[in-house]
Amino acid sequence: MRRHIFESEHEQFRESARRFFQTEIGPNGARWRAQGYVDREAFRRAGELGYLLMWADERYGGSGVADFRYEQILIEENARYGERGFFMTLHSRLVAPYIGQLGTEEQKARILPKCARGETILGIAMTEPDAGSDLAGIRTRAEDRGDYWLLNGSKTYISNGQIGDLFVVVARTDPQRPHGLGLFLVERGMEGFARGRNLAKMGLKAQDTSELFFDNVKVPKANVLGDPTKGFHYLTHFLAEERLITACGSVANAQAAFDITLAYVKERRAFGRPIGTFQSSRFRLAEMRARIDAVQVFVDQCVLEHNAGRLDAVTAAEAKLLATELEGEVVDACVQLHGGAGYMEEYEIARMYTDARITRIFAGSNEIMREIIGRALDLDERKLK
Ligand SMILES: Cc1cc2nc3c(=O)[nH]c(=O)nc-3n(C[C@H](O)[C@H](O)[C@H](O)COP(=O)(O)OP(=O)(O)OC[C@H]3O[C@@H](n4cnc5c(N)ncnc54)[C@H](O)[C@@H]3O)c2cc1C
Repeated sequence: MRRHIFESEHEQFRESARRFFQTEIGPNGARWRAQGYVDREAFRRAGELGYLLMWADERYGGSGVADFRYEQILIEENARYGERGFFMTLHSRLVAPYIGQLGTEEQKARILPKCARGETILGIAMTEPDAGSDLAGIRTRAEDRGDYWLLNGSKTYISNGQIGDLFVVVARTDPQRPHGLGLFLVERGMEGFARGRNLAKMGLKAQDTSELFFDNVKVPKANVLGDPTKGFHYLTHFLAEERLITACGSVANAQAAFDITLAYVKERRAFGRPIGTFQSSRFRLAEMRARIDAVQVFVDQCVLEHNAGRLDAVTAAEAKLLATELEGEVVDACVQLHGGAGYMEEYEIARMYTDARITRIFAGSNEIMREIIGRALDLDERKLK
């Protein structure tokens, strides 16, 4: 289905972005997957081309372009031609805005230009061994010691955890209040800050995912982000955009899986004809085509709503839920249509299958998305008891 949300300048941008992902990212994928992380050079190159922190003001190294459609294009082109383990958007549009929106002038001037150049790589550390979906269970503690905050605890499953230079770390500042959390900027080299191993995952092999440890880390007051008691409130605000980012990526992955598979079923023959011409294959692909189009329209509309400042948390949750469930179903059906080849890692579709499994879990699991949507229907058991 034709998409109507892009203007000619977006299409031009897409062409140059496509060249970047086709020539400088995609060809490195196999090597990055083997080594377990993306070369830092990829971030630097993206920075050089102006693809990082596009939303940031020019004085902080950005281009002052808040229009989310440009980020959506980067997400889509990376999904299609780049490497799904290259978490450029996490750095650029998911973590950096915490600093852009909550940071002081000093923090923004000190940190953002290096992020825009791809010299400082960002991550966000919320999840802990005993607290994932339930952020109120966070145990990492930050104590106000006058000149600094003393940070103790650990995080797990942190994206960009090995190559990252600066992490927004969520820590408890008020032991009495479940939502008494603060956000702290922890930098590479701070005494007491250590990383665990690069965790072995079923998919997204090029993406480094790690544990982080904080042992009496003295975080200077200059590295506190916003009000240290309002972290929970800030997270709620930023998580809506995280869900939209995930939705854009998932529908793009579903579309890519569909295209790869359509080409495959036209080539591959069985019983004297292309396998795509069996009615069961044709029906399956027809169903996928219709559903991808429908979800794409919904996600595109969410992007426009987001640009207008109107995307609410519930609608973002709907987009995340729909797009990631779609991705899961599409990659599964596409593996089936590939037959044995679909199980072989050398085939892109096999990697798409394992890479896709996480999208229903991270950025808020889909059960949590259903909770958010369900509670908005006035079906909150806490209120209806
Ligand atoms: C590859 C990868 C990258 C990640 N990157 C990051 C990162 O950069 N930063 C970060 O902070 N975290 C990151 N995470 C962590 C991710 O966000 C969490 O794994 C996710 O939020 C789920 O938390 P959990 O693993 O503790 O699962 P749990 O919270 O233990 O959930 C387990 C199951 O219980 C279900 N469940 C939980 N609560 C409810 C409920 N109220 N109702 C119904 N069902 C419920 C869940 O949906 C899930 O199915 C990453 C994880 C992975 C695997």
